[in-house]
Amino acid sequence: MQAGAYQKHIPQRMRMLLQGRVQGVGMRPFVCRLAQELGLNGWVNNTPQGVIIEAEGPAATLALFAGRLPQELPPQARLSACTTTTIPAAGSEQGFHIQHSHTSGAPSLDAPPDLAACPACLSELFDPGDRRHRYPFLSCSHCGPRYSILRALPFDRERTSMAAFPLCAACLAEYQNPADRRFHAQTVCCPDCGPRLALWDADGHPQASRETALAQAVAQLRAGRILALKGVGGFQLLADAANQAALLELRRRKHRPHKPFAVLVDVPMTRGLCHVDDDEMNLLVDPAAPIVLLRRLPQAGVAEAVAPALPWLGLMLPASPLHHLLLRDFGAPLVATSGNLGGEPIAIDEQEALTRLNGIADGYLLHDRAILRPLDDSLLRMAARRPLLLRRARGYAPSPIALAEPLPPVLAVGGHLKNTVGLAHGRSAVLSQHLGDLDDALSLSQCRDTLLELPRFYGVQARAVACDAHPDYAGH
Ligand SMILES: [Zn+2]
Ligand SMILES: [Zn+2]
Repeated sequence: MQAGAYQKHIPQRMRMLLQGRVQGVGMRPFVCRLAQELGLNGWVNNTPQGVIIEAEGPAATLALFAGRLPQELPPQARLSACTTTTIPAAGSEQGFHIQHSHTSGAPSLDAPPDLAACPACLSELFDPGDRRHRYPFLSCSHCGPRYSILRALPFDRERTSMAAFPLCAACLAEYQNPADRRFHAQTVCCPDCGPRLALWDADGHPQASRETALAQAVAQLRAGRILALKGVGGFQLLADAANQAALLELRRRKHRPHKPFAVLVDVPMTRGLCHVDDDEMNLLVDPAAPIVLLRRLPQAGVAEAVAPALPWLGLMLPASPLHHLLLRDFGAPLVATSGNLGGEPIAIDEQEALTRLNGIADGYLLHDRAILRPLDDSLLRMAARRPLLLRRARGYAPSPIALAEPLPPVLAVGGHLKNTVGLAHGRSAVLSQHLGDLDDALSLSQCRDTLLELPRFYGVQARAVACDAHPDYAGH
């Protein structure tokens, strides 16, 4: 045997650090499956720096693994860097497995944004034979709530508000099965072990649960009532988009006489409302599920009070399975606007909603999974054939922005109006979600909380704080 051929067969070991959107997107189960398919030994884990892989096997197989990995990533994963080093072979491992996450060390600024239901979860949602048929909280390693339920990095169930829901035997079996789509999916749950739906009246008295809650909520919307919905990143107010009287009442109660309301639709409904070109459709169907501003058709089938005298309508596809169920059962476009008064952050918990939406909502459709930070619906439109983000929140925050030059750790306070907070570290910066206008006391307090939370969440100590020193700005 020649030396080169011999070299191919002695085990080698490599260590890879994957950075980018690599947590909360099914990366570890994907890596594990690929390594097992190729017969490699080793492990993969999540760390605050990114996903770390150690793989051992013949050099040719390792090269195949390193070549296939970036080509076959899970749909929502994005690699910004992949560093590979050769390390001494261990020789003693059997098989490939997912290790428990490490929580120490210098962090990277990568936390997963919330993702709308993936096609596989949607087909289960509407499949009468599936055990998650019509379950409003189904998700998998490719989709589901992420940043809105995440306490700290790395992204593991124990550091999310799903920690309150221990897995049942059936979910645990899926979680442990490398062949299952829910292998190591941190948000896995089902009707037996996961969050539950409830309907409360305007005074906070429970009226119904589960399917009955959903059916009664839809009946209330049909009757022209205004429903507060606990969505992905906070409360929304829903109403029938064709009911002029209900929308005028919503405007009166919300002290919002003119500003347009967003409309929750499915893809076929968009055709009766707006011109939608291919780029705009791509924005609508993105897993971020933003509100997209679109050119309104003259005969658009919504009430005038949705967006008075405007040539635009803001349309949004369902951001969660619960939105899908509501829309499917209601069968027509629904106004979905933030659960707040103008300029305030959106309410995120039931008691807060009962106080702040008192006199606005006729009922509350709720669940018992905590939302940990307010994330309003994101808003964008196409401008000069490029997406223009007008409000960057749910689905986009906190995806990092790559910087051309490395920066020391700097915290930035942001502007007085439409405030966001920023944190730069190395070659990345993260912007907080949209926090609102700082002349509002609740928004100012949310801004202060986020200034404290952001460096703590990422484990970065800011060396400087940048702010606008304008004497009339609250942010200095
Ligand atoms: Zn899914
Ligand atoms: Zn379960």
